[in-house]
Amino acid sequence: MRINVDDLNLLPSKRLRIDYNEKLDIDCVVKPVVGELLVQAVGNGVLISGRVQTLLKLNCHVCLRPFFQSLNVEIDEQLTANKSYSHEDSPRDRELTKDDFYEVIPADGVLDIGDIVYQAVTLASPVFCRCGDDCPGPPKAEKALAAGNSASSIGASESAGKIDPRWENLKTLFSNQETGENS
Ligand SMILES: [Zn+2]
Repeated sequence: MRINVDDLNLLPSKRLRIDYNEKLDIDCVVKPVVGELLVQAVGNGVLISGRVQTLLKLNCHVCLRPFFQSLNVEIDEQLTANKSYSHEDSPRDRELTKDDFYEVIPADGVLDIGDIVYQAVTLASPVFCRCGDDCPGPPKAEKALAAGNSASSIGASESAGKIDPRWENLKTLFSNQETGENS
C-alpha cells in the first residue's frame, strides 16, 4: 500500500483515512494485519497514526510450546521531508539506532504504508514469550537434566551462569525475520 505525499497535499483536508488490511511477511504473524490509519500532511512532513491488530503464533520460551497471542500496535510515526542524518545504507543493513524511528520521506514522495506497519509490528512483537499464567514450566526432559545437575551444587551454579539455550532460539527468530524481509 503506497501513498504519494503530493496527492496527500492536494486533498482539501490534507488527510487520508486508510482501512489497512495486509498480510505481512513475518514468520510469527499468522493473520493479516488489520486496522485503521490516518495519514496527514503536517508542515513539511507526514504523520501516520492509528492502530492495527493481528495474531501472533509464538513459542513459549519457558515450556517451549507454541501458543497464539493477539497483538495490538499503536502506530504514531512522523516522517520528515528533510534528510537530517546520513541515510545511505538501508536501515535493514545495519543496526537500528533511534534515528531510524524518525524516518525520512523518500525522494520520490511515495510512502510505503506496509513498510511502516511492518516495522511497527516487528518492534511490538514480544522479545520474551510466555504462554500465560497456565504455563506448565520447562519441559520434563529439562527438569530431569536440572535434577541431575543438582546432585552437585557446583554443577548447578555453573549451569546457571551459562546462556540459556532458549535465548539461542531468539537469535534464530530474528534472523528468520531478516530473511523474510529481504525476500
Ligand atoms: Zn509456556
